[in-house]
Amino acid sequence: MQSFDVAVIGGGPVGCVTALAHAKRGARVALLEASPERKNRFAGELLHPVAVDILAQCGVNLAAAGSHGPNRGFAVFTPEHSGPFLLRYPKGKGATFEFNAYVDELRAATMQTEGITWFPGARVSMLEGQSVHWGAGTGLRAGRIIGADGRFSFARKALGLPDDRHVLSHMAGLTLHGVELPFEGSGHVVLSRVGPALVYRIGPDAVRVCLDVPTPWKKASNRNELLINAYRPVLPEQLRAPIEQALRQDAILWAVNEFRPRTSYGRPGMMLVGDAVGHVHPMTAAGMTLGFSDAWTLAQSDDFESWAAQRRRDSEVPALLATALYEIFALQSEATYATRKAIYDLWAYPKMQRRTMNFLSGAETSLPRLLAVGGNLVTRASVHVASDARHPRRWRPAMAAVRSIAGLIHWLVNESVPEPMRMPFIQKAATPFEMLRQQQIAALTPPELRVADLAAEPA
Ligand SMILES: Cc1cc2nc3c(=O)[nH]c(=O)nc-3n(C[C@H](O)[C@H](O)[C@H](O)COP(=O)(O)OP(=O)(O)OC[C@H]3O[C@@H](n4cnc5c(N)ncnc54)[C@H](O)[C@@H]3O)c2cc1C
Repeated sequence: MQSFDVAVIGGGPVGCVTALAHAKRGARVALLEASPERKNRFAGELLHPVAVDILAQCGVNLAAAGSHGPNRGFAVFTPEHSGPFLLRYPKGKGATFEFNAYVDELRAATMQTEGITWFPGARVSMLEGQSVHWGAGTGLRAGRIIGADGRFSFARKALGLPDDRHVLSHMAGLTLHGVELPFEGSGHVVLSRVGPALVYRIGPDAVRVCLDVPTPWKKASNRNELLINAYRPVLPEQLRAPIEQALRQDAILWAVNEFRPRTSYGRPGMMLVGDAVGHVHPMTAAGMTLGFSDAWTLAQSDDFESWAAQRRRDSEVPALLATALYEIFALQSEATYATRKAIYDLWAYPKMQRRTMNFLSGAETSLPRLLAVGGNLVTRASVHVASDARHPRRWRPAMAAVRSIAGLIHWLVNESVPEPMRMPFIQKAATPFEMLRQQQIAALTPPELRVADLAAEPA
């Protein structure tokens, strides 16, 4: 059996960065990929500045990967406001590109890097101590085995970890041509009554649209009409007709949006990175920034326990934020209406816009600071609820909103303490997120009725 310092299972974006980061430190790396041929996969296409910096340090040329110029931040369109909120990265620039072209480029970079040996077509099916096996009796040994094999990770299973993924929703991907974006050089987040849409440029004449689709809608016979009705009122003018046309042509790429908490990073000698550790809703585009940071910091570390503890701490803020923001923006309840209003109040201040972007992009990872902003938000949301409650017949939904906001605080606090200290009944109970999601899914069945409900809701 051949021997290597490091064996990386999976040549996706995070596996490639893991191999490059280790090779840069002088390690002899084996990179094993089950499906080396190009696929038409729909996945992450937007990188925050932290991830762009890591790629630059690994020597990856994003322009060669088809990156279409720097991304300065996000324009957020909400149903409640006529103009968008422009949230800019305080430092650095992000990037956008087409996923499959970018993975090709990352793989090409690993093939050209000294110290990395590719094993194309190696679908790892057995791990024994420090040896890795695939196919009919083929294998190698490595001092460090790293599972970068995504959501369905074999390495994760081999470590005996549970398959604790939750389906949140589906994502419909469209490609538009001949379209000018309202804010070129920015990602566009469009908040609708059913979920968020993400729109960004992936080429000189290609714009990607990602529409969040409630799972019960995925199989509905009138799905595309439902999506047109739900997103039309909130889309910027110039995107309406092209998106409707793409939906009517049913030219859709599909992906599933899932959540898995980032709790286990493996054991000494066998680590997990990227989606194999955990994943969040793509709304905040956190996945690859988290994965690249796992990979880069692991290559700099010789001590598993301290690396894993640091990653757990540094992943809390982006993971919490992705979950909380999806909950607040995708779900319809008195509590989420009030919290959204509170967010817009905060975004009136440039300082809060900068802070939001620092949290969102992984540049700021302090949980106490996030909780301080969360406390401010909850106070403001409660004021909105209380002022609504002054109207007769509104106190009942307002009380439900207060209970829901209290549940959110409880959940945030519980999430923020180390796992052994978490309250066991909360660990077992669904998070407010899950409860609301279940309510919404129930309300979305049958979907036709829900669309009628949504149309009748006041802005
Ligand atoms: C619709 C959608 C939009 C997204 N948008 C964004 C975004 O804008 N920004 C962002 O940062 N993130 C985004 N994400 C998340 C992002 O796509 C993931 O975080 C990222 O792809 C994870 O990379 P990975 O290398 O860990 O896993 P994957 O990309 O899943 O790669 C895993 C690799 O391992 C290989 N493999 C699997 N099993 C084996 C085995 N047994 N042996 C050998 N090889 C194996 C697979 O073939 C694959 O190549 C999005 C996700 C979705 C679904």
